[in-house]
Amino acid sequence: MRMITKKPGAHAPDALRAAGKRLTRARRIILDVVRASEAHPSATAVYRDVRRRLPRVSLATVYRNLRMLAAEGLLTERADAAGMRFDGNTALHDHFTCVACERIYDVPALGARGVSARVASHTGFEVLSRRIEFYGRCGACRHAAGPTTPRRGRGEPSEGAPIPRRKPWQVQASRAARVSRI
Ligand SMILES: [Zn+2]
Ligand SMILES: [Zn+2]
Repeated sequence: MRMITKKPGAHAPDALRAAGKRLTRARRIILDVVRASEAHPSATAVYRDVRRRLPRVSLATVYRNLRMLAAEGLLTERADAAGMRFDGNTALHDHFTCVACERIYDVPALGARGVSARVASHTGFEVLSRRIEFYGRCGACRHAAGPTTPRRGRGEPSEGAPIPRRKPWQVQASRAARVSRI
């Protein structure tokens, strides 16, 4: 995953020209759709919107151009368990995923430099980028669910209880556990 982004709001035609590419109509529309969204849309979601303005565009074209625009630093891409998502906000920021509605929110990267510097001094590694993820319940979902009730015990769910869906962070956690065992 690419996390190093160029200047926020980089001028798209200039950035692409420098890379020997053109800002075609399709690319401009794709960029507009992602930049106008705060939802960190998937390629399929972008495709649905782009198709309204370019009815003959294919999902493959949208996907290929999304990856290219990300490679040129005009978008940020993030690989999640749910797939690839695209972010029109290329400024340094962190993300908060709501475990109830699964929406991904931008949150300010507080103390970003301090965290990277501490990791670097602890490990001796050169930190080039970072990705910090927060999980919880967003304002709307907190409001809808009422006050948090502490969970008692960790027993099996009672019979007839719905099988909880695996959430992205659980998939990621189990994947990480698998990797760490190798
Ligand atoms: Zn929510
Ligand atoms: Zn974001």
